[in-house]
Amino acid sequence: QVARFQSITLITPTAAIAADAHGGRAKCLQRLVRLDLPVPKTIALSFDAVSQIAKGQMPDMAGILAPFGYDPLLSIRPSSQDPDWGGPGAILNIGMNPSQHRRLCDRMGEPAATRLYLRFVQSYAVHVHRLDPEAFDFPDCTDSEALKRSLEAYEFEADEAFPDDPAVQLAEALRSMARAWDGTSARLLREAKGAPADAGLGLVVQAMAMGLGDGECGAGVIQYVNSNTGMPQVTGRYVAQSLRRQALIDADNAIYLTRDKRGPSLEDRSPAVFEQLIAIGDICRRTLREEMAVEFTIESGTLWILDAVRVPRASQAAVRIAVALACDEIIPREEAVMRIQPTALTELLHRQVDPRAQRDIIVKGIAASPGAATGRIVFTSNDAQASAARGEGCILVRRETTPEDIRGMHAAHAVLTMRGGITSHAAVIGRGLGLPCVVGASALIIDRKEGCIVAADGRKFAEGEIITVDGTTGEVLVGAPVMVEAALDDAFQTLLQWADDVRDIGVRANADTPDDAQTARNFAAEGIGLCRTEHMFFSGDRLGVMREMIFADNADDRRAVLDRLMPMQRADFAALFEIMAGLPVCIRLFDPPLHEFLPSDKAGLRDLSEQLALPVAKVTERVAALAEYNPMLGMRGVRLGIAIPEIYEMQARAIFEATVDANKNGAGVVPEIMIPVVSAMREVELVKSRIDAVAASVRTCRKYDFEYRLGVMVETPRAALRAEDIAQHAEFLSFGTNDLTQMTYGLSRDDAGRFMSAYVQQGVYAEDPFHSLDIEGVGELLSIGAERGRKGRSNITLSLCGEHGGTRSAIDFCRKQGFDYVSCSPFRVPGARLSAAQLTL
Ligand code: PEP
Ligand code: MG
Repeated sequence: QVARFQSITLITPTAAIAADAHGGRAKCLQRLVRLDLPVPKTIALSFDAVSQIAKGQMPDMAGILAPFGYDPLLSIRPSSQDPDWGGPGAILNIGMNPSQHRRLCDRMGEPAATRLYLRFVQSYAVHVHRLDPEAFDFPDCTDSEALKRSLEAYEFEADEAFPDDPAVQLAEALRSMARAWDGTSARLLREAKGAPADAGLGLVVQAMAMGLGDGECGAGVIQYVNSNTGMPQVTGRYVAQSLRRQALIDADNAIYLTRDKRGPSLEDRSPAVFEQLIAIGDICRRTLREEMAVEFTIESGTLWILDAVRVPRASQAAVRIAVALACDEIIPREEAVMRIQPTALTELLHRQVDPRAQRDIIVKGIAASPGAATGRIVFTSNDAQASAARGEGCILVRRETTPEDIRGMHAAHAVLTMRGGITSHAAVIGRGLGLPCVVGASALIIDRKEGCIVAADGRKFAEGEIITVDGTTGEVLVGAPVMVEAALDDAFQTLLQWADDVRDIGVRANADTPDDAQTARNFAAEGIGLCRTEHMFFSGDRLGVMREMIFADNADDRRAVLDRLMPMQRADFAALFEIMAGLPVCIRLFDPPLHEFLPSDKAGLRDLSEQLALPVAKVTERVAALAEYNPMLGMRGVRLGIAIPEIYEMQARAIFEATVDANKNGAGVVPEIMIPVVSAMREVELVKSRIDAVAASVRTCRKYDFEYRLGVMVETPRAALRAEDIAQHAEFLSFGTNDLTQMTYGLSRDDAGRFMSAYVQQGVYAEDPFHSLDIEGVGELLSIGAERGRKGRSNITLSLCGEHGGTRSAIDFCRKQGFDYVSCSPFRVPGARLSAAQLTL
């Protein structure tokens, strides 16, 4: 074992080489050797061998050099366990000295040989001996003068002659690469990519293949799929008469690989080698079970394969590559499902900032709704609507959003707020609409007087200036960086179908409007798990009607408003039933936190007074009277249903009438009605008896029978604790983890954004509990609620419908608890389907 881990091993088909001992590159090279591909002779140094070298314990150089024969030319490349963890840059042409130079002059001519020698001396001085690059810069000299002066400069700077002995060069190069791996910045970079603190570095020493000389000589890299789309396409580059490193950077002299009208190609120059490269791509794909990019050198017509790495790929390409490998039976479908990160799917549902684009960051807030959009800064919803009317994209910038902003949000391309967390109004609506959204950008100031936003560094961006909101990263950027489009292609659909074939927990969507429901259907949600009916009144002229209902100060006035609301609701539900075509639809009765529905500024008060035909003073007085100190714990949810029963009765009637209409057309709808913010069994009992009465009345009036299911939203700690009682009257329990988190922590959903980053930075909370379900605390309430709920009713349906529903950890938790489904924003449905499948496999 010890011998193996400290090994310096010639890579042969049978040598003991392991990715976790010698690194991914060494392992991959061995696979290529096993496939009998023309790989130059290569030696692998294990992690332990390299770590000994970093400590100054050098192995015997003669032993390493022996397999390469007399006077070799070598390259050294890093081989970390995961190629993404990086490593020090390659060092080429170890072994270059006067006698080697003479030999190369004969082979490739004096100018090329001298240039090679010069490059080696310079790179050895700078990268191995860490001398100042400026001391080796001789721009006005010929190559042979520059070589002479570089050797002198080396002697002067390093206090010793340039080493000619290949053993010395090799030892020094190995030592410098081994030490570079231990440097702080290298460590931080790889740890950011998930490398453990003790990640090892292997090194591979390989005989150089020379892309210089007589006949077809050159170096290049080839891949067989497009890195952005994953579609089959031979791409890469080839530079004749060049070394590997140059071929990768020398875009000007590159020629095409495949035949091309625009210029010469490798396929024309060397059809046999080209054909060999195509065949190698296919061999690699089938046996390495991956799309590889292959680095090659042609040495006087002979092909050498120096290396092969996983093709770098965008998310869209990752999906297509995995699906194609499974369709070709190279990997099983389950493995294709496992290979894709659910977060990568979310990326495909929205436009994104091109990963290669420059980012000039104005501020970083909370990434509340993914995707990116560019537009002009506007500060009011009216201006957003005016922008939209002019056909101009805009970004709605608000301190925080309220229901009055809903029209502005519809009109805007993205939303940016200074306050609020992941479950704030802007965030929830943004996700529902699929609108990129950054919230809680508290370092930004809105200067309404000057009509601009001011960044922490003092930069000002005026109304009308163009900015970009990147809701995927939480960054707000200057100007309009290049974007990449959403990609819902056939490969995406196939992958998700395979995920559905294996997963064992349902995935529904939180959808409030017909548009949401359509999105949910497009993403193959298995029904609606939460329709927040108050959100149906966020748009158009409806907000006014909702406010009139809240404002009504006597039963007659209220009944008049409810009579107007009822047909609107009935039409809403009819539309949802039609779109969901027999899939379950869970409708939550009104839960309007009053502050979300009352105007908060003078203009809003004026609008409302116009609408109600009341004096502003009267409206202001009534708003003040209705105001609550703590609206999230005020007249919400079922409390409204208990205090003013006719509101829920109107909703129940609308649901049942829509059900009858749908079922008369053969739809087979069994609506689910859910009561929010319950804390006591008696609340459920009361509401249930009233809804039963409405059902009976509709059955009689319409002379038509139907069924419905009544359930309870468990979102107060007490409801979880009393779930056994509550389950007596509820066919299902759906855990609302937004409110449950708020109430378990005593942490306001709308204010937590202000101090959450301090809490997370100082490790008080591992993560924002509104973002990532708190398994230890809130999770325990969920377990208690589930267990007690089942005690009260053994076949009770259990689900989770808070914003956590789309996250992997919450899905994992719900599976383990035996929940029936999770419900999340429509745009999170595909990621949830994939996560659920991966957790099953
Ligand atoms: C919840 O509280 O988890 C929930 C889904 O309801 P809302 O976000 O509407 O309060
Ligand atoms: Mg709630």
